[in-house]
Amino acid sequence: MSLKIYVNGEFIDKDKAVVSVSDHGFLYGDGTFEGIRAYKGCIFALREHLDRLYESAKTLMIDMPVTIEEMEKIVAETLIINNFEDAYIRLVVSRGAGDLGLDPRKCSRPTLVVIADKIKLYPEEFYQKGLEVITASVRRTPVDSFNGKVKSLNYLNNILARIEANNAGVGEAIMLNHDGYVAECSADNIFLVKNGEILTPAAHLGLLKGITRDSIIKVARSMGITVTETIFTTHDVYNADEVFLTGTGAEVVAVVRADKRIIGNGLPGPMTFSLRENYIKYACSYGYKLSEHIAKYGKKTQSAS
Ligand code: PMP
Repeated sequence: MSLKIYVNGEFIDKDKAVVSVSDHGFLYGDGTFEGIRAYKGCIFALREHLDRLYESAKTLMIDMPVTIEEMEKIVAETLIINNFEDAYIRLVVSRGAGDLGLDPRKCSRPTLVVIADKIKLYPEEFYQKGLEVITASVRRTPVDSFNGKVKSLNYLNNILARIEANNAGVGEAIMLNHDGYVAECSADNIFLVKNGEILTPAAHLGLLKGITRDSIIKVARSMGITVTETIFTTHDVYNADEVFLTGTGAEVVAVVRADKRIIGNGLPGPMTFSLRENYIKYACSYGYKLSEHIAKYGKKTQSAS
């Protein structure tokens, strides 16, 4: 059975699901998106992801075509109609179709797309052996140019950083902010463990405030671990006891080499391991439950609301 994609109010077969070439998401990267994950019928932290999406849209002055409650239902229905319990969900809101100029006033209504697909798990080796990273020469955009809290359709500096990682044959690239402090990675947030405590770059440094990042902070604090949102440099990364990355796709993954410096003993550390275990338990239980949705609204099988 073909995947059904939600496009502007309708569920459409994947091979027929299209958006206009005049869409400013395509022409200018004008829009915002979310990457969300469902574990065993529980859409992890759906409200947090939607809050971030709606905040991004507000800053970009994109009028969301549906309310946040309607959006929750659309995301749930996209999973249900495709019979997914474990899935990766991509939600895209673009400025919509306009003319060839960049003036957003020419775009009459935003485009809303929700895609659910099988989650592509990272290889188990990633988690057993950890990742190697480099520091990219490309920096995060300064917050007075564009705030990294907006998860926008413009990912080009992250993509350039990822190309640097690919060229170096490593798994991720650390991105510094304009002042040379560590901000995050091309598609993940970064954490250090030093003397039993956890450090992560503060959100004002120009990073995307990851939902996994915020969840790991909660999980670590619930384990009695001190977490500080602060400022640090690559020197602190090289000399940490453990380093790990977080993101919806990667969950929690250890970094064992950074710019050819071995981190700790060169293996994923015990704190990373127990945080990963506790995070996965948390992710499987905290969120929007498809069973409750079906009990409340019934099981949608055809056209969208
Ligand atoms: N930073 C960037 C630049 C990202 O694109 C992402 C999402 N892949 C993250 C951090 C992690 O965010 P989240 O935990 O919400 O997936």
